[in-house]
Amino acid sequence: MEKTGRIGSALVTGGSRGIGRAIALRLARTGRAVAINYRDSADLADDVASIIRAAGGTALTLQADVSDPESASALVCRAEEALGPLDVVVSNAGITRDRLLIQMSEADWSATWMTDLVGARALCRRALSAMSARGHGSIIAVSSVVGTTGNPGQANYAAAKAGLQGLSRQLAVEAAPSGVTVNCVVPGFFPTDAVAHLTPEQRDAWIGRVPMGREGPVDDIAELVAFLSGDGARYITGQCIAVDGGYQASLGFGFGS
Ligand code: NAP
Repeated sequence: MEKTGRIGSALVTGGSRGIGRAIALRLARTGRAVAINYRDSADLADDVASIIRAAGGTALTLQADVSDPESASALVCRAEEALGPLDVVVSNAGITRDRLLIQMSEADWSATWMTDLVGARALCRRALSAMSARGHGSIIAVSSVVGTTGNPGQANYAAAKAGLQGLSRQLAVEAAPSGVTVNCVVPGFFPTDAVAHLTPEQRDAWIGRVPMGREGPVDDIAELVAFLSGDGARYITGQCIAVDGGYQASLGFGFGS
């Protein structure tokens, strides 16, 4: 197991599956005790914790629905009560409820908005409060390229993920004097349950717009999170970093069209 200089605990929301699972496993390999949050998938979250423990690490699972701001905020306290001070909080949990805006229900707007932005804000706010008092820590939010570019049928998701990027930059400025960094990871297309509903044609259309011509490995996102939360990134804050096979960089060139 790899070790960094100062080891505090980590909390990953939505750590039961997909990108969050990869982040939880990677942070555990840095020697951090990891709190794995989930909403419904207790068994999957337990599997992640078991893998970490089998490798000699420390992990626990915490059920909470982060679309409820009070639950999201309390999650930070619960993780600290169980594992001690958190050095790393990753706001990763997210959902989509896709439909063209003129057909989108208030429920679909609200569910996405509350999970992907409002809950994330509550989580980050509580984490910043705790970390500021101690003078160090890393907060990392998982946004999406859709928050930068837009995508038909995803107005709710695009608005929330764009908001998350703005929130991260703003929090970074407010947190900087206290020694806490805040950064945003901006994934492109990754083969998780979140995109499993797409037809092969829809998937191919996405991949066709990616200069590298393939979907991304979730471990690449986990690697970036490990770096941003490590001692080598103490002067990096307020950044929104895409992990997208060149997707954002190619915009405006009509790549794949
Ligand atoms: P995923 O496979 O669908 O996993 C979603 C995770 O979020 C699960 O652990 C789920 O918990 C948790 N979650 C959802 N709603 C929650 C809530 N209200 N409270 C607590 N946990 C909740 O998704 P993913 O692809 O790994 O996505 C992770 C993040 O990356 C999301 O923010 C997503 O928007 C972003 N992203 C993904 C892609 C992609 O291509 N996959 C691209 C750009 C951005 P349960 O298992 O308990 O349901």
